[in-house]
This record gives sequence, C-alpha cells and structure tokens, in this order.
Amino acid sequence: MAGNSEHLETKLIHAGEPDPRIGGAVSIPIFQSAMFEYGGEASYHEIKYIRLNNTPNHTALHRKLASLENAEAALVTSSGMAAISTALLTLLQSGDHFLAQSCLYGGTYDLVTRDLGLYGISFDFIDGADPGSWTAQLKPNTKAIYVETMANPLMDVPDLKGVIEFARRHGLVTLVDNTFASPVNFRPAEWGFDLSLHSCTKYLNGHSDIVAGAVIGKADLVERITHKLNLLGGTLDPHACFLLHRGIKTLALRVRHQNDCALALATFLAEHPAVRMVNYPGLESHPAHAIAQTMFDGCSGMLSFELHGGVAAAERFMSNVQLPIVAPSLGGIETLVTRPATTSHSGLTPEERQRAGISEELIRVSVGIEHPQDLIADFTQALA
Ligand code: PLP
Repeated sequence: MAGNSEHLETKLIHAGEPDPRIGGAVSIPIFQSAMFEYGGEASYHEIKYIRLNNTPNHTALHRKLASLENAEAALVTSSGMAAISTALLTLLQSGDHFLAQSCLYGGTYDLVTRDLGLYGISFDFIDGADPGSWTAQLKPNTKAIYVETMANPLMDVPDLKGVIEFARRHGLVTLVDNTFASPVNFRPAEWGFDLSLHSCTKYLNGHSDIVAGAVIGKADLVERITHKLNLLGGTLDPHACFLLHRGIKTLALRVRHQNDCALALATFLAEHPAVRMVNYPGLESHPAHAIAQTMFDGCSGMLSFELHGGVAAAERFMSNVQLPIVAPSLGGIETLVTRPATTSHSGLTPEERQRAGISEELIRVSVGIEHPQDLIADFTQALA
C-alpha cells in the first residue's frame, strides 16, 4: 500500500485504489450500474447512484485526485466546464461579486461575462500580474477571486502568491483553473488555494478520448459543490471514469516528457530567423519566467508563437507541418497546432483579441509525446 507515498509517480499508480482490491482486480472494473442496493444510508446524497458521483469508480478517482494535489478532497465532473460552472454557482449567490483574471479560457469567459449576470452575480476583471491594482476593484460584496495557472494562449501566469495573500487579507475564496499546469507542475493546495479546477479532458486523461472535469481542494467546499453537482446533474459516466483513471496513471511520464519537449521546441523557435516571438514561461524572455521558476516544477507542453509574415505565413506553416494535427484542445499525447483567432478565441471581437494581445497570426502548440528531434525536424521543414 503506497497510497501515502510522497512521490507523485507512486501516488498516480497506488493512491485511492480500492483496498482490498475488488475481486482481486488489478485495474478497477467499470461499475456500469445506475443504482446500488440500499445499505442503510441516512441521506439523499449518500444513496449510491451514478448521478450522485459516488460509485466505486467515482470514489477511487476522488481519493486519487485529492492525493495528487495534496488536497483534502476532490470531485469528478462531466466536463471542465461542469467543474467551473458548478463551483462558481455554489460559491456565489445573487448579489455577490467576484474578481476574475482578464485573460480566461473562452468558455469560462462567456460564462462570466454573459451568463452569471443572469443569476445576479457580478464581476470585475483584474490584471493578474498587477496585485497593486486589485484593491480598487474590491466591493463590500466581493466573495471570491478566480485565476488560471497559465492562461491560454499567451501562457500568462498571474501573481499566484499575490492572489493568496490578497484573498487572505480580504476574506475571499480562491479558485484556480490548474488545467494547463496539471498536478505534475503545480499543486494549488500546497500554496494555499481553496479550490483547483481542471478540465481532465486535457493532461489528466491525456489521450484525447473523453471529456471530464475535476474540483480539488478544501473538504467543506468540495462537499458543497458535490451537493450542487448532484442537483445540476453534471456527473461523470462510469466508463469515462474508468478511462480517466487509466489515463491518469501515466500523467507524470507524459507531462515531464511534454515539459522537456516544449522547452526544446520553444528554444529552437526563439532562435529561428522566421520567428518573431515565442510565449513559453520556461524561456527567460517570458514575463512570468521568475514565477514559473519558483512555483512550478515545469512549464507544460503549451506554447505559442508568431512568425514574420503575418497570417499568410502562419497558414503556410500550419499546412506544411506533417506531424502535428491541426485541431483545437490540448494536453493529449499527439502534438496539436491551432490559430487561436480562428478557434479558441474566435468568439472575441478583433478589438477584444487585440486588447488581450492575441494577434491574428498567433499559432498555439500543444506538444504531445513524440520525440523532440522529430518535432524540431518537422518544424524546420515547415518553416523553410
Ligand atoms: N479550462 C481550460 C483552461 C480549458 O482549456 C478548457 C477547455 O479547453 C476548459 C477549462 C473546459 O474544459 P472542457 O472542455 O473539459 O469542458
């Protein structure tokens, strides 16, 4: 039983596994049963039922995910957006206000700017890198602060220590979308965050074959979010639980390789004469390099860059590369390239994109687990 081992690699395999093993099964079986026999449960939330997120497939994942981030508790959800929306709708009520980092994942941006207002929840955007400017945006009804560890597509990193200190001073709940970093590179609970949110669709599952999410953090908050999820219905199906459980076991091997490979690719691109600029926190040139060095164990497989020659050069590059697949999403084993202006950030107006620093020609790369030399060779021919 190595569930309490300090090393992430060991926890990925052993933490949270059923003890004793179910029927001796080395790999947890899929419990494809909507309901379970009544066992004397006292409350509605304890009855075993797939929508209540408490089958053996769910509970094993909850224990494993909490252990990976050294947090008290965890909950899996039907998607990353289910994790984000259910967490925000649990913590905030009509009349509440919260602060959010201005550069957010597109789905979260839409939820915050278009939908939460319908429930009487207001927000202000903050500049994540400038804690000195946050106090002016506080209101008597401000309840929470929401940031992303690394923000798409420029790999912006907010002042994460600043977020914790500010929230402690003003009694705010802290939420961080830790999807891009994954528990391999950043564990929010260790730094004092109340809640870490994930699209497990990305690194945690890692194989581009399911959509799933997770909320990890303080036990009392996770319990409240679980009750809300039970009513909103964003449960993860047991088969998807099984695939996520299987994918997670290789997380450290995949992400460490992706960290190394992305750094090699970013370094290559930064030195290439056809490249105008590269965004990767692992490079000294990135504004958040110092934060990444002190707080992260790696900078993920995500990077973005611009070529001299604008959109035409970007399109030429994307049609010339052979190994990467031109597709949205990220964090899987295959390298993907996209142009955020036409995919993840196409919902923003050109002016909004310009304000966010996202140029029309920006190319985003999600580095997979191919050999870095093969990727660099392919990028070299595509840039030629
Ligand atoms: N958070 C981040 C940072 C994302 O990139 C995404 C999806 O791309 C999400 C959340 C939403 O996740 P899902 O698609 O699993 O709902």
